[in-house]
Amino acid sequence: MKKYIMALDQGTTSSRCILFNKKGEIVSVSQREFEQIYPQPGWVEHDPMEIWSTQASVAVEALAKVGANADNIAGIGITNQRETTVVWNRKTGEPVYNAIVWQCRRTAPIIDAIPADMQKKIRQRTGLIPDAYFSASKIKWILDNVKGAKKEAKAGNLLFGTIDTWLMWKLSGGKIHATDYTNASRTMLFDIRKLRWDDEILDYFQIPKSMLPEVHPSGYLFGTSDEKIIHAQVPIAGVAGDQQASLFGLCGFDKGDVKNTYGTGCFLLMNTGEKAIRSRNGLLTTIAAGRSDKVNYVLEGSIFIGGAVIQWLRDEMEVVKKASASEKSATSVNDTQGAYFVPAFTGLGAPYWDQDARGTLVGITRGFNKDNLSRACLESIAYETQDVIRAMEADAGYTLNSLKVDGGASKNNFLMQFQSDIVNTSIERLKMVETTALGAAYLAGLTTGYWASEDDLRKNQKTDRIFKPVMSEEERKERIRGWKRAVKTAEFWAKSK
Ligand code: ADP
Repeated sequence: MKKYIMALDQGTTSSRCILFNKKGEIVSVSQREFEQIYPQPGWVEHDPMEIWSTQASVAVEALAKVGANADNIAGIGITNQRETTVVWNRKTGEPVYNAIVWQCRRTAPIIDAIPADMQKKIRQRTGLIPDAYFSASKIKWILDNVKGAKKEAKAGNLLFGTIDTWLMWKLSGGKIHATDYTNASRTMLFDIRKLRWDDEILDYFQIPKSMLPEVHPSGYLFGTSDEKIIHAQVPIAGVAGDQQASLFGLCGFDKGDVKNTYGTGCFLLMNTGEKAIRSRNGLLTTIAAGRSDKVNYVLEGSIFIGGAVIQWLRDEMEVVKKASASEKSATSVNDTQGAYFVPAFTGLGAPYWDQDARGTLVGITRGFNKDNLSRACLESIAYETQDVIRAMEADAGYTLNSLKVDGGASKNNFLMQFQSDIVNTSIERLKMVETTALGAAYLAGLTTGYWASEDDLRKNQKTDRIFKPVMSEEERKERIRGWKRAVKTAEFWAKSK
């Protein structure tokens, strides 16, 4: 009867529902895009009602595609775009404003105004570097700018939630107001060591505690869906923010496991076990998805320009027609002829943190051609990744176990082999590419007993390919030295103005 686990994958541009079977295979998928609202330059909003309606309709569609109904679902897992903020009225269920999306920069002035001692407290307690990305300043903006909101919030009538919280509230017919540790750890209001909302930070942002959801482990019985909503009481049993869900979906349960998602940007997460490590390299510390109050922590680093460098190669340089053709182009030549490309289009992130640096192509000679450029572009993604990994290792004090990969550009075999060579570790690429949704499903399935243990999940995993390092130590060091010099050039260009 209970054949499937349902994963609701609520992303930045679309809502998806995927049904998984016992083997962790996809049985059905349904997806709908929704409107991106740009009221002013730099502002990004979503309509929370549209998020809910698209998510509810893809759930119905995914079931219908395989002739199933909600009675066939053993549990629901939710994974979501992180940080995006919804505030709604507890009594009416109506949002008081659109959802303010993680990308939205409108609250930068609120962040700039935080005094140094508060900034320090925020860093120490939340593991985050104060930024407009996180939910705290977005909640404050809504309370300060929506007429009557502050008064209503003080009277206890308003609720805050990230998208997981909003979806659970709607799914349960207003019975559940909760979130999980991974989402809470991206609000900039949560003490990641004490595992509770931080009163002092809440006071600073003037956010009443009554607005905040209860916080539970990611694998937890949050409640059940309302019969009126999806025609059955199904346990909602797994919740995790997208990056942490992906780490879980890749079975990155253990200390030293690292995953990199090669999308437009790259998102690296390193599981650091039970210790929350304070980064000296500008990485963030957040909570990993897990099933108990004994949480694991992660160090998180992102790379602004990952697969995007291949989009640039395709759209601006017109070297390739499709992103996937970059592999053939890069492997049609033996090397870059000693050249390096640093895709610092918008500055450099971890571990350099130089917002003025700009894209740089160095070391070219007369024979340098477009295929050498393809190769240099792909190699740059691997060098950037190795920089972040080395920063993580320096912070954590140990080396990674393995690198697990997902995302569009992880399909590129040349990139994966070069990555393995440059980091000097083996890389595992799975057959399953929907690791984010799978992570949410795994959490829900473990909690409801659909799967017995993490070992069951490991057995489910089907490797697509393993890449092993073959480059000599000498060559690796030489190439990394060259990359560092290229990065210095990119920085010098801006500094020497
Ligand atoms: P996102 O979720 O950020 O939209 P995806 O995971 O869909 O990203 O990956 C898309 C990115 O990966 C694009 O930037 C694209 O240029 C790049 N990409 C896709 N396929 C390949 C490939 N075979 N080789 C290199 N880059 C690729």
